[in-house]
Amino acid sequence: MSELKDMKIMLFPSRYIQGDGAISFLPEVMARYGGKPFVVATKSMLSRAESLMSGKGTVVRFGGECSRNEIDRLKGLAKNAGATAIAGIGGGKPIDACKVVADEMGLPVIIAATIPATDAPCSGCAVIYTDDGVYVEVLYQKKNPDVVLIDTDIILKAPVRFLISGMGDALATYFEAASCEKSHSLSECFGLRTKTALSLSKLCLDILLQHGRDAAKDAANGVLSEAVEAIIEANTLLSGIGFESGGLGSAHSVHNGLTVLEATHHLYHGEKVAFGTLAGLELYDELGIKDKIYKFCVDVGLPVCFADLNIPNVTDAELKQVAESAYKHNFMSHEPAELSTEKVLEAMKTADRKGRELKAAKGK
Ligand SMILES: [Zn+2]
Repeated sequence: MSELKDMKIMLFPSRYIQGDGAISFLPEVMARYGGKPFVVATKSMLSRAESLMSGKGTVVRFGGECSRNEIDRLKGLAKNAGATAIAGIGGGKPIDACKVVADEMGLPVIIAATIPATDAPCSGCAVIYTDDGVYVEVLYQKKNPDVVLIDTDIILKAPVRFLISGMGDALATYFEAASCEKSHSLSECFGLRTKTALSLSKLCLDILLQHGRDAAKDAANGVLSEAVEAIIEANTLLSGIGFESGGLGSAHSVHNGLTVLEATHHLYHGEKVAFGTLAGLELYDELGIKDKIYKFCVDVGLPVCFADLNIPNVTDAELKQVAESAYKHNFMSHEPAELSTEKVLEAMKTADRKGRELKAAKGK
């Protein structure tokens, strides 16, 4: 008899709304779920949230960390307010906290993301930390967000590095899903892949390669172009759906491995994932397009070598630690290739060498 994990499983947010000024629809969207909206906003979005809601419901400030204490604090406030729906406005941490609050209270959740660097808005899982920011666990919700509101004007006003980092995370999506498919590995919703998930992951890659360079330039100039809109969709919707229903592989394993080196800590998630994608393509490159991916990374300003990762003088001993840690993460076993710690180490060194050569050739 089959088990649930032998089935093809796919998760989606119920409704996705993207556009210039999308956040202005928050009160209208929340009113559909009842008369007592409860809005959690980061410090920088607090006054905007208050004026938007104009006295309807409750608006509170996010405490700063997606920890059990903060989740319980928000749950207490939401309960006292008689909340009929929860909204989270901000980056990955407030979004994740609100997903857990709503899930545990059995309420709808509306997500308004303000940066395009994370897969958090569309997914049905949340990363929990201690109050001091140390990773604790991933919590899985019963369903994905009810509404995801992506205001492209707000996102454009965030530093362009977020958009580029989001492209780094999105870049891994197709390669990891394709590897998982080939090796019959489980996705992040603990099932096999639908054709839909694979196809949307491929669309994510196609949009990046087609619009990524223009989007990076336009966003740096504050222009909300079609390219920027397309990349926001790829980074948020397609990458979010793609990783969850497609699965993870070597790119995120190398990312996790890199976190053992303190010097890489100030880099964003997607920046490390981008380098992990390059190293991963040295291990397995089914489409034979790795050269194209190196060029893309150099052009948009994603890390392609150790110097870009702030570890220009990294030693073999340190790289061995990274490779061992990367290898220990079970996503590495999702690659359909015979791998070892040595191979992962060599792949990182090859990526670094090729990245440096390409940058030199492009005069960067
Ligand atoms: Zn990621």
